[in-house]
Amino acid sequence: MNTVYIGLGSNLEDPLAQLKSAISTLQQHPDIAHFTVSEIYRSKPVGPQDQPDFINAVARFDTELSAIATLDLLQSIEQAQRRVRERHWGPRTLDLDILLFNQELIDEPRLNVPHPFMLERGFVIRPLLDLAPQLRLHNGKTVAEHVNQLDTSDLVAIKEA
Ligand code: AMP
Repeated sequence: MNTVYIGLGSNLEDPLAQLKSAISTLQQHPDIAHFTVSEIYRSKPVGPQDQPDFINAVARFDTELSAIATLDLLQSIEQAQRRVRERHWGPRTLDLDILLFNQELIDEPRLNVPHPFMLERGFVIRPLLDLAPQLRLHNGKTVAEHVNQLDTSDLVAIKEA
């Protein structure tokens, strides 16, 4: 069994609904077990404010799927939600990234794990703190130690999550 952490993000017109839809799909998927999700965080866009807030969360689950098969699954969910969006509401985004896959280092054309930018992103590390404060990251620090080095003041937990 593999333990996987993923990042979920969206900044479409109704990004919260987009994230909840992806969470629901993952929760119900037959290849996914022990699914847990952080609180959902909102942050204001940098620059022009006439665009939707960013919505982010991190989820953890167990799966027998390989890392590439897990990426395929995440991309199929992105595509499915994109198709619906294109038909009804125009272009939107849903990003599902593999952050960690067990403790593996993966360097393949389609997949880099740990996710190359995760350590510098408050919107990844702050939700990860909800799930795994004592998890040791690839910089040798625990999540609880590392989060102090990041500015997470723009992130607000959405209580309805
Ligand atoms: P983006 O839409 O910017 O998230 O980029 C998606 C692309 O990143 C896809 O082509 C993936 O194959 C690639 N990729 C590389 N590493 C990862 C990862 N850890 N999680 C998700 N996608 C990844």
